[in-house]
Amino acid sequence: QHTLEIRGLRAGVQTKEGRKEILKGVDLTIHTGEVHAIMGPNGSGKSTLAYTLAGHPKYEVDGGEVLLDGQDLLKMKPYERARAGLFLAMQYPVEVPGVSMTNFLRTAVTEVQGSAPSLRQWVEELSTEMKRLRMDPKFAQRSVNEGFSGGEKKRAEVLQMELLKPKFTIMDETDSGLDVDALRIVSEGVNHAKDVNHFGVMLITHYTRILRYIHPDFVHVFADGHFVRAGGPELADELEESGYDQYLPEGVSESA
Ligand code: ADP
Ligand code: MG
Ligand code: MG
Repeated sequence: QHTLEIRGLRAGVQTKEGRKEILKGVDLTIHTGEVHAIMGPNGSGKSTLAYTLAGHPKYEVDGGEVLLDGQDLLKMKPYERARAGLFLAMQYPVEVPGVSMTNFLRTAVTEVQGSAPSLRQWVEELSTEMKRLRMDPKFAQRSVNEGFSGGEKKRAEVLQMELLKPKFTIMDETDSGLDVDALRIVSEGVNHAKDVNHFGVMLITHYTRILRYIHPDFVHVFADGHFVRAGGPELADELEESGYDQYLPEGVSESA
């Protein structure tokens, strides 16, 4: 079993108007095999948490620590964090023109695992996982995410996760913009990868519907840069009913 521990994490960005504090003391512990749903209003800092964990240079850490099996992730470069077993499925995946999916994925797997998979094994695994996600085999030859629809980009993120076999995976609104069929296929892909690899999941979402497919062990409410509440799956149902307004600053309304 592996453990990801976030303690008192504070981070922000430099903007034209000056320094903006976004993460204001984040505490969370995840073990492999667990699914933690992280729900909260827009703009509360969920993506910032994901990017900060992955090591995006834009987000500067002001305090706290992040430990993967006791190893200090914050001291590592993004690729070292990936090697340590952390994966981020991005809310807005980036397009990489001129680099084919197959080359990109094989390079990523080689980087993370430390050696290249044999070509035969690679071709077979890629084709199996693409089939699982109902992706046309032609996608392997296309440039990474270039001209992909929203749903295709999310499938490509899950494909990458299946091939990289992380210890912990952060899924940042992987459900947003997916229709019901795509949501089910993507969720099945995640559940299958989780069954095989027993990773821990940080499932960031704004909506409860993905939780009907990927069942959380814990549900956390994230608002204004930190966790404000934790519970079991029943908390997601409560949020569905009551919304996030009660967690927003006075006078602000999500539904408005
Ligand atoms: P969420 O994912 O919960 O919607 P984000 O982490 O995307 O929230 O954003 C949290 C807050 O930080 C928002 O007010 C957003 O505008 C601001 N923010 C995030 N990234 C940047 C950035 N690179 N530059 C300036 N402001 C940012
Ligand atoms: Mg948002
Ligand atoms: Mg976000």
